[in-house]
Amino acid sequence: MAPFRYPESFVFHRPLGREMRAIDHGAGALLWDREGRRYLDGSGGAIVVNVGHGRGEIASAMALQAGRAAYVHGTHFTSDAIEEYAARLATHTPGDCNRLYLVSGGSEANETAIKLARAYHLANGQPSRHKVIRRSISYHGNTLTTLGLSGRPNLQAPYKPMLHLAPEAPAPFCYHCPLGKSYPSCEVACASEIEAVIAREGKDSISALIAEPVLGASAGAASPPDEYARMARETCDRHGILYIDDEVMTGFGRTGKWFGIEWGGVRPDIVTSGKGMSGGYMPVGGVLASERILATLARSGSFVHGFTFSHNPVTAAACLKTLEILESENLVERSRLMGEKLLQYMQPLRDHPHVGDVRGRGLMTAIELVADKATRRPFPRSDRKAEAIGAKCFVNGLISYPGGGCADGVNGDNVMIAPPFVVTDAELREIVEILDRSLGELGL
Ligand code: PLP
Repeated sequence: MAPFRYPESFVFHRPLGREMRAIDHGAGALLWDREGRRYLDGSGGAIVVNVGHGRGEIASAMALQAGRAAYVHGTHFTSDAIEEYAARLATHTPGDCNRLYLVSGGSEANETAIKLARAYHLANGQPSRHKVIRRSISYHGNTLTTLGLSGRPNLQAPYKPMLHLAPEAPAPFCYHCPLGKSYPSCEVACASEIEAVIAREGKDSISALIAEPVLGASAGAASPPDEYARMARETCDRHGILYIDDEVMTGFGRTGKWFGIEWGGVRPDIVTSGKGMSGGYMPVGGVLASERILATLARSGSFVHGFTFSHNPVTAAACLKTLEILESENLVERSRLMGEKLLQYMQPLRDHPHVGDVRGRGLMTAIELVADKATRRPFPRSDRKAEAIGAKCFVNGLISYPGGGCADGVNGDNVMIAPPFVVTDAELREIVEILDRSLGELGL
């Protein structure tokens, strides 16, 4: 058989020129390729798989729905699956963000959220509000708009002339503080800086702040200082700005709580989600709006927005079964407990000469590689150290999620470890053992 690589393959793969291995099947935290090689899925793909691979009950729920009615347009019909799902999800959502708009991915969810914020201000008689504040290190998606809302200079570079870069506040990332300060003497200056951005841009022009509760791939599982979310929320309240909580990576138990913002103890206005929402069984994104937003929009009558595949019944059926599994198997709590173990097992990795930090919350963890531990100086991005570790781990049977640019937006290497919540203790130890060996083999 021809190799799965350009030009022999007719698929336009993401890594051009690399020969791709073909997946055969998975079970729990394990995957097997077509040649029978076994892999530990140490990152649930792109921090997606939470309830585990090979869940026949999710496949059956999807098949049942597809057999009854696979597709209807969201303006023509609703479905039992989405109605039941949204009502059940509302028992877990932060604050009163109870009203679900279901889409097909995290980027779509964030685009929807910023349009929703704008629609809310319009309905409220504040048409000047249209700008969204982003943070200097962040990720909110790969469409042109959501890329412009992100703090990812490496990903933005090729498309810069096409992007609208949103006003930027410093990221709450203490290991490489963008303000050069240290916690707690900094008094969480990164949160205070949001006020300065608002003053600079004109407070009546700002629609929303978009923030991940725990920084995802852009920084590698970095938690902000405890006070950050509360301070940011208060600033938003002072100026009538909406707080969009991007839970695409952190939601559905990944950080050991249903939603990552629960660690910060604040109520957002809009929550976005994706990834673990369907356990990886369907492409999905969700926007959860607060009662205040829905009540205001309802007065104006409509939300001018929509996608062909929004509110899809099969997606809803997959999400509903995933939610049932998270609840019945107590997997959010398991993510917290197994995450504590994982972080503990990872601590000895700090003995490697270039492992500068080991961090995370729940089963969302990472190591950061630095050229110099004392100064936290990153390797130059061109060295692609994170990718080298990712590739070495892959060959050694561990799937991880490498990311670049965490130190200053351009340089910096982190490797995320975020397995499915059903991972066993023995598998956690094996993940760390392979990571340890791979670091050693590369002299890192
Ligand atoms: N927001 C966050 C925090 C993410 O981590 C991601 C994806 O990694 C996205 C948004 C974009 O989601 P998607 O890739 O499903 O469009």
